[in-house]
Amino acid sequence: MSAKRGANEDLVRPILDGQLEPLHHAVKHREIGVSMCSALRSVGPFGLPPGAAPAGSAPGAALAALSRARIDRRRFAQGLGAAAAVFAPAPFAIASGNARVVIIGGGPAGATVAGEVKKAAPKLSVTLVEPLIEYTSCFFSNHYIGGLRTLTSLTHRYSGFNALGVEFVHKAASAIDLEKRLVLLATGQKLEFDRLVVAPGIDFKFGAIERYDEKAAEIMPHAWKSGQQTRLLRRKLEAMRDGGVVVIAPPKLPYRCPPGPYERVCVIANYLKTAKPRSKIVVLDAKMTYSKQPAFEEAYKKYYDGMIEVHLTNDIDDQSVSRVDLRTGEIETRAGLNIKADVANIIPQQTAGRIALAAGLADGDWCPVDPETFMSAKAKGVYVVGDAAIAADMPKSAFAASSQARVVAADIVADLMFTDRAPARYHNTCWSFLAPGDSVKIGADYTPGEWKGHAGLVPSGPFVSAPGEPAELRKENYEASLAWYTTLTNEMFQKMAKR
Ligand SMILES: Cc1cc2nc3c(=O)[nH]c(=O)nc-3n(C[C@H](O)[C@H](O)[C@H](O)COP(=O)(O)OP(=O)(O)OC[C@H]3O[C@@H](n4cnc5c(N)ncnc54)[C@H](O)[C@@H]3O)c2cc1C
Repeated sequence: MSAKRGANEDLVRPILDGQLEPLHHAVKHREIGVSMCSALRSVGPFGLPPGAAPAGSAPGAALAALSRARIDRRRFAQGLGAAAAVFAPAPFAIASGNARVVIIGGGPAGATVAGEVKKAAPKLSVTLVEPLIEYTSCFFSNHYIGGLRTLTSLTHRYSGFNALGVEFVHKAASAIDLEKRLVLLATGQKLEFDRLVVAPGIDFKFGAIERYDEKAAEIMPHAWKSGQQTRLLRRKLEAMRDGGVVVIAPPKLPYRCPPGPYERVCVIANYLKTAKPRSKIVVLDAKMTYSKQPAFEEAYKKYYDGMIEVHLTNDIDDQSVSRVDLRTGEIETRAGLNIKADVANIIPQQTAGRIALAAGLADGDWCPVDPETFMSAKAKGVYVVGDAAIAADMPKSAFAASSQARVVAADIVADLMFTDRAPARYHNTCWSFLAPGDSVKIGADYTPGEWKGHAGLVPSGPFVSAPGEPAELRKENYEASLAWYTTLTNEMFQKMAKR
């Protein structure tokens, strides 16, 4: 593993070439110990943690230079970050051995960062801010909706993190003060940070569809956040009469889990086929095409012939939903199509989680990041990871979030522990259920580089399941998807951590 060399070579070369090696060595072997609760300490003078070495003092100045160089060598500091560096992480806490990493959100993005940082650098203070005591995964929630799995099997506790020494704050973050480097909680508590990871997932653009708001989602669930919403959709399907109409309305890209709505079509069709065989599924899609479309279309015919009707948007007709009538169950599209639903699953347009928008980390709906590190393009020392980030063409998935989180964790550890970093590599695979024992997949590797004229993630080795594949291969996909779920959740929730 070698340190990356960027265009800030003049600043960085002395370090890379070993001219600062004695200092580097001293820093590396210095005790960078912190107490587990240090992020919850009161704020010291000038926002510095108590005991921080002032810049300019020896070895403070040199350490500061080293720390700055390690941050400045990022590509984003030359381009993206230079435009909007509202926050420059101070080296003081690092020099004093009191660096605090605060993470907002305990999904595959945030929980993975927390675990990976703590395992690689046990002495760093790592605080995970997550209001939920238990996490119910969206990934595989379609299996629950289709009656293939229980909700309990998708629900995980965070207890494995105790053994690791990650500090938990089971509260929602209410605001981020980038200048003072504070996360504010609804209770009034303040958490100081030297590095912040913002991983709140998604929120919805309620209001884009007439009469569809948070309250309406209790009648026509989106089920695009797991737990109460997925349970509601499942109950509505169970209560529906045989011969009923289920309407599923996917949004435009980008949104969480691009193939998810069509996997949902299949799991629901699979359930209705035996439980309520006279029923129908109508899809009203804001898009013109969708992920793995040929393989899905083959499955509709092969397994669910006559049950599924898909209305895609085309050059003339916009089939995105314009209005819902909660009383009659009618769903209307911009093209004027009007379908009366017995069960409606309206999936609204999405944005990065509200906390990220409120902190000014977004451009429009999503948060731009440096593709090499997932550090925010808007604030140095702050990372946005998982669904909240816009990562060029890398889809929003738990697989992608966890892959990004590992890069973020490595970058934080490299910065705070003065170790070398490996070049960033990302991977994604999304499996989709078509029928029992028949799953398809799509995926690619991603490397930072120029993508569509600007810095982004360049896909390589893409793969996608095609129609007509052998049953054996589809069965392998199905089994691989189940194994992936177990592995990801074991790793993400530290289920193997020693107690
Ligand atoms: C139906 C469906 C099927 C899917 N299937 C797959 C699949 O098969 N494979 C796959 O890889 N992906 C799948 N996904 C996508 C996957 O669920 C998401 O991409 C993934 O959960 C994103 O992880 P995240 O950590 O960014 O966000 P989340 O998982 O949403 O986690 C965010 C966390 O942040 C917390 N949070 C939010 N705001 C705050 C705040 N202010 N303070 C503190 N905490 C906060 C939330 O409580 C939440 O726990 C699917 C999604 C859906 C909807």
